[in-house]
Amino acid sequence: MRFGRLAGPGRVELAEAPVPHAGVGEVVVSLAACGVCGTDLEKLRGNYRSAGLIGHEPVGRVSQLGSGVEGLSLGDRVFVHHHVPCYACEVCARGDYTFCPTYAKTNIDPGGFAESFRVPQENVSRKAVLRLSDSVDWESGALLEPAACAYTAIRKVGLPEHATAFVLGLGPVGLLYGRLLRSLGAAWVGGTEVSPLRRAAAERGGFDVTVDPREAGAARAAVDRATGGRGVDLAVVAVGPPSVARDATQIVRRGGTVNLFGLPEAGSRLDADLQDLYLRGVRLIPSYATTEPDIVEVHRRLASGDLRVSDLITHRIPLDRLDEAFRLAGRPDEAVKVVVTGPAW
Ligand SMILES: [Zn+2]
Ligand SMILES: [Zn+2]
Repeated sequence: MRFGRLAGPGRVELAEAPVPHAGVGEVVVSLAACGVCGTDLEKLRGNYRSAGLIGHEPVGRVSQLGSGVEGLSLGDRVFVHHHVPCYACEVCARGDYTFCPTYAKTNIDPGGFAESFRVPQENVSRKAVLRLSDSVDWESGALLEPAACAYTAIRKVGLPEHATAFVLGLGPVGLLYGRLLRSLGAAWVGGTEVSPLRRAAAERGGFDVTVDPREAGAARAAVDRATGGRGVDLAVVAVGPPSVARDATQIVRRGGTVNLFGLPEAGSRLDADLQDLYLRGVRLIPSYATTEPDIVEVHRRLASGDLRVSDLITHRIPLDRLDEAFRLAGRPDEAVKVVVTGPAW
């Protein structure tokens, strides 16, 4: 079978490998679709220190069941979460599951851009294989992981009633974040984005106002109009450049929260007036990744129709054109979300 991997700086390639075999407690899944994530693009650019496996937003059909696996059947439509915490260490005991040392070590083999992939026993036993509701199509299923990352972030920062929020950077996760905020009751959501295609996607759902960040003062003016000059409850940093994080600190209200959500550039520094942050009580809360309870909750919202996301997928590219999928995903003017499709599509 074929699978995609990084092949040196700036290149992905397809390689051949034997079809994986489901050992005791394991599952093999035939790929339907896997989204290209911003972090996949960062790995390609060499800006993300990690093991280098690509593809972590997969949905597909169960094609092999190892002995001892319960609650799943051959042919089931599933979403698979690549990382699971141990649920036993001190970090997990405090509820910080995504920072568990086990979390980032777990993964599907050989990644999500593969005709089939093996789900290790630890992922299967910790409920990382989720059966999709009939009302959740492949597209929505492929957005489950990034949407759940946004849900985890919102749960961490805590959303006040009638909240006002502003999302800086409307890539796929920024857009999903805005739609979730709205489905969770936010009163006003604005955002900045350079790409007109992505601003249009925002205005189709979730966002009241979007502005081009290259227009000096436009974000501040939109926030002032919506909040009577007070600033928003929550500003979400959904893109990497450090100047965006600084901008976010300047549009939150007194006592408001900045959520560091997008992957910052490696080695970047926050250039902000610390006394100003102190005196205004601005909280800075990072949120990385997600875990099963939040994925289950987002799946429930997708299944009920409370949350609609499938229109965010602009391109479905077969696995054998993986390089084209990556090129497109890196062009905000042409694509919103790109998914790579496999044999179960
Ligand atoms: Zn992702
Ligand atoms: Zn742990």
